[in-house]
Amino acid sequence: MDNLSNMDATQYDAYIEHTRQTEYPMLKDATYLDHAGTTLYSKSLLEAFSADMMANLYGNPHSASQASQRSTQQVQDVRLQLLRFFDADPDDFDLIFVANATAGIKLVADALREHDSGFWYGYHRDAHTSLVGMRELAREHRCFVEDREVEEWIERGGQDTHNRLGLFAYPAQSNMNGRRLPLDWCGRVRSKGMLTLLDAAALLSTSPLSLANLDMAPDFTVLSLYKIFGFPDLGALIVRKDAAWALQKRKYFGGGTVDMVVSLKEQWHAVKSAHIHEQFEDGTLPIHSIIALKSALSVHHNLFGTLERISEHTSFLAERLYSSLQSLRHGNDEPVCQIYKDSASTYGNRTTQGPVVAFNLRNSKGQWVSNLEVEKLAHVRNINIRTGGLCNPGGIQSALNLSPWQMKENFSSGQRCGSENDDVVNGQPTGMIRASMGAMSTLKDVDTFISFISEFFVDATAPPIDAIDSPILSAEIPASEQLHIESLTVYPIKSCAGWQIPQNTFWEVRPQGLAWDRQWCIIHSGTSAALSQKKHPRMALLRPSLDFAAGLLRITCAVWLKDAPCTEISVPLSADPRCFIPESKTSTPTNVCGDSVAARIYADPTISAFLTAALDVPCQLARFPTNSTLRHMKPHLRGAGDQDMPLHFSNESPVLCISRMSVNALNRDIKARGGTATPASTFRANIVVAQHPSILPGTEMPYVEDTWTYLSISKKEKAIEPNKGGKFEVLGKCRRCHMLCIDQRTAEKRQEPFVTLAKTRRSEGKVWFGVHLALSGKQSKTWVRVGDEIVVS
Ligand SMILES: *Cc1c(COP(=O)(O)O)cnc(C)c1O
Repeated sequence: MDNLSNMDATQYDAYIEHTRQTEYPMLKDATYLDHAGTTLYSKSLLEAFSADMMANLYGNPHSASQASQRSTQQVQDVRLQLLRFFDADPDDFDLIFVANATAGIKLVADALREHDSGFWYGYHRDAHTSLVGMRELAREHRCFVEDREVEEWIERGGQDTHNRLGLFAYPAQSNMNGRRLPLDWCGRVRSKGMLTLLDAAALLSTSPLSLANLDMAPDFTVLSLYKIFGFPDLGALIVRKDAAWALQKRKYFGGGTVDMVVSLKEQWHAVKSAHIHEQFEDGTLPIHSIIALKSALSVHHNLFGTLERISEHTSFLAERLYSSLQSLRHGNDEPVCQIYKDSASTYGNRTTQGPVVAFNLRNSKGQWVSNLEVEKLAHVRNINIRTGGLCNPGGIQSALNLSPWQMKENFSSGQRCGSENDDVVNGQPTGMIRASMGAMSTLKDVDTFISFISEFFVDATAPPIDAIDSPILSAEIPASEQLHIESLTVYPIKSCAGWQIPQNTFWEVRPQGLAWDRQWCIIHSGTSAALSQKKHPRMALLRPSLDFAAGLLRITCAVWLKDAPCTEISVPLSADPRCFIPESKTSTPTNVCGDSVAARIYADPTISAFLTAALDVPCQLARFPTNSTLRHMKPHLRGAGDQDMPLHFSNESPVLCISRMSVNALNRDIKARGGTATPASTFRANIVVAQHPSILPGTEMPYVEDTWTYLSISKKEKAIEPNKGGKFEVLGKCRRCHMLCIDQRTAEKRQEPFVTLAKTRRSEGKVWFGVHLALSGKQSKTWVRVGDEIVVS
């Protein structure tokens, strides 16, 4: 395979594609456009490592045994091999193993802060969060917003440092948009008497780095080995030997870093001095991980050739992705992508640009598309991208033009890194999409991704979906007879299967929702967070039923469970306090969709054993406390009169309603696209309304619910049940996510109905189906029944 470097880009791509198809089953159907390094799920790597482990016994270093000596020897070899991987002469450099790049940065910061007058710290705008955090340990710090500022500062000789020890840090490649920064800054800053820290974590997954030229090399270089090799999970800090003095003030010492420690009556210790790395590798080294690097280096070489080859390959892919996204246009000729390329970089030029494209999408009216929606659809299509703040605060703020007050305001309104909040706030994006290519990426990945964007985010014609027609009620049949309740369903346990309310049963509705709806939830035993079907699709297989005769909630599982202690569990419908773990023993409040709730947890170990066997996560059953109104509806769904509507464990609103007509219309659309129709149960509504049976199919009114404001339920037998009925207020349309892809009968994932909904029912960048309802006005309760007529207004 040593002819890899002679292949041209297309041949190389075909080779990688072939390898993926034949050797890497996990990569077969997925499109990886992020976390490039971690996609090396290398069968060969693990096989090589496993063979090494089977053949050799590796002991804990620091002893004289043969096994221990073998480990020590291997660690020394790997250290040298890695230094050579970066053309670093072992006479001039040493390599310290650390947990990750961040730990390397922190090690430098911890040491520099011990200097008598601390240190001055300058960092570039494009720095990763982990580099920015170093400023908190510096006496003074400065963020360089433009390259020009760095240049000027170097010219002036860095006089801002007030004679403190000075450190300038920057990323070799931005982890946000892949821009590659000038490597000559290291040598130039150094020539002015200051230290440099180069963060090469992002660069190295798709580019070589040479430390051969000592005049140009940084003093400290940090990197994440897992970003290059996928495995093992390790980082490294490469230190110039002539800069090691700066680290030697570090105070802490741990096992492995000292030659002698005197304790008890006197306190004295001698730090190891033969090698730099000995002073900083606290405790036992992760020896097996380090030894695995040996396999990683050799498999990486056999499979991909050199980092140079990967660099060429990925650059070729990135250029194509960039130019395709750049040229995408809506039907009205408006651009689709806003790409955040640095003005100093050029795709195709590997010195200035890595294989990363950071961008946002706009619709044909120029409005920003929510990245949350992009993620949901990418998830359905098995495409791995990253969205959000990308751990690059300065880069994001300058690319998106966010001022500090906006960031703070967004924070106050609930924006958090990694949260599922909408990232378009006040019409402005607060995050972006990142597609980055790695050694394993191929043209097919790029093309799949481009067709994905075209399929869902390019409006071929002028704005289509916003103008969802409002249907006119049919004139022939009296309004009161056009609609009725087709079925009623409660979901006693949040995210588990529904339970159909029998015919001819009057069911109580309270401001919190239908009686017995979301009274229970299943919580993770470790975090106490309520589990949801989105992450645990198997919850759909848990089938609760309400047995009023026996006074029990019964729970069965739709499939046979090998490890379960029984085939059914049950708890009393009454909240018998003896069933619960005493409140004094449950310290962590349950977290339901971000709200803290004092739920009561069932003590019976059989219950948690059954649920744990069903869901394959350690979990427990919990019940919503009686008389608690701790949860309230999200502000955007509050009715006009009721500022404070209480909720149980339901996600957003007390009652979810869908129409049979809309389900039918959607199924026609799905079938027209060659998909399989979906049952109404997919939408997990409480109330399904249907039109009068005399209305012929085809003349029915899909999506009429979008136009409702009130919904009155009336009874035919008014004389018999004078109190029954009631008025509901429509709070708003229901926004949907890829949870709709879970087949409620089998818990399997499929693409529909979400894919078709995303194409036919998307407006304001969101996908809608069904409406949220709440009892209107001051009604404290009412009753509804299957067959009840509905009058809308
Ligand atoms: C990933 C990354 C880091 C952080 O690396 P860890 O190994 O997670 O600590 C720092 N800087 C850049 C540029 C990165 O890409």
